[in-house]
Amino acid sequence: MIYILILIVVIILSSAYFYLKPAKKVTKNIFNAEYYRGLNYLLNNEEDKAFKIFTALMDVDSSTIETHLALGGLYRKRGEFDKAILIHQNLLARPTLETELKNQALYELAKDFYSAGLYDRSERIFNNLSEIKSYKQSSLEYLIKIYESTKEWERAIDLVKTIDTKYINNEKTNSLLAQYYCEISSVYETENQIEKAIAISKKALKTNTGCIRANLQLAKYYSQNDIGISAQYYNAVIMQDKLFAPYITSKIIQLAKRVDNSSTVIKTLVSIAEHKDIPFIPEIYYFILYEKDDIAAKKYINTFDMKDTVNNFVISHVLAASDNGDKTDGNLTNMVNSYENIFAANFHFICNNCGYKSNELNWKCPSCNRWETILPKSAIDIIRDGNINE
Ligand SMILES: [Zn+2]
Repeated sequence: MIYILILIVVIILSSAYFYLKPAKKVTKNIFNAEYYRGLNYLLNNEEDKAFKIFTALMDVDSSTIETHLALGGLYRKRGEFDKAILIHQNLLARPTLETELKNQALYELAKDFYSAGLYDRSERIFNNLSEIKSYKQSSLEYLIKIYESTKEWERAIDLVKTIDTKYINNEKTNSLLAQYYCEISSVYETENQIEKAIAISKKALKTNTGCIRANLQLAKYYSQNDIGISAQYYNAVIMQDKLFAPYITSKIIQLAKRVDNSSTVIKTLVSIAEHKDIPFIPEIYYFILYEKDDIAAKKYINTFDMKDTVNNFVISHVLAASDNGDKTDGNLTNMVNSYENIFAANFHFICNNCGYKSNELNWKCPSCNRWETILPKSAIDIIRDGNINE
């Protein structure tokens, strides 16, 4: 009996709470039967029926607008851009929409268009929204993303220059600017306008002295007619990021092969060999051997700690391969070939932000769209990474 009494009291109290709480909150309750019916239609691809219900609901209750915005965003995340666009366009068709909600719906619609690759339409909306203070920064950032997608580098540069922030789209502003200059430089290169390409890569380097890409571009451009300067730019890259050392070494050796070993090129290789923090690079060893300097080659090997499992594994294989190689006539190609059989000297390019793998060096990751997150990895780097992860 006492339990029944308690139950009755609880029921009375909870109904009292339900009826006495502010009326506004009651109308905010979106979980009514009609709403679920609409949701069901939407999920079953019966958008027309769903929108009829949602529109009717919106007439009596503006709070469902927020839910629509969330739902549209969800569809966009799932890659169902057409549905997201329909939801947001439907919202915007409401004649009584408050300005703030209208702007919010417009912002979402612009993001839908951007995600769907409809850049013109997206650009138009973001341009308008960038006039509104609370949407300015994020609209400008989207506009920059659009110009990146459409490869309108000049427009991207102009826009970045108008924004006074240290970071844009989570990238350092000066790094981003330098990348855009490098993009333009690449275009000049494909058009065979090397002088213009050089000038703009230098501009990139001036904007961001740490721009590895600009150094690599300049090294490549100068390799045509000034090996010394080329080697200097390659060397600059290694000083900027030691993880590039094996990749750059292969470039420098290509250079050396082309010009019959100019002294600057050799000097650069020696400076890499003498650099304490750079791991063993088989090409350097082979190159020194090729120069018929057995003592120097041995000295290079002796700088590495053979107690390190990866060093031990790699160096003993390299030594075995070079013993099999035809050292007497200094045939580097033979040696490198036998080395390639063991380690497949190709480079893999891996994004350290999302793990995207590729056979070419992209400066903007095609998967996560971040800049300068991709690193060249030699087979040995990959062995070493695997070893560290264990
Ligand atoms: Zn990535």
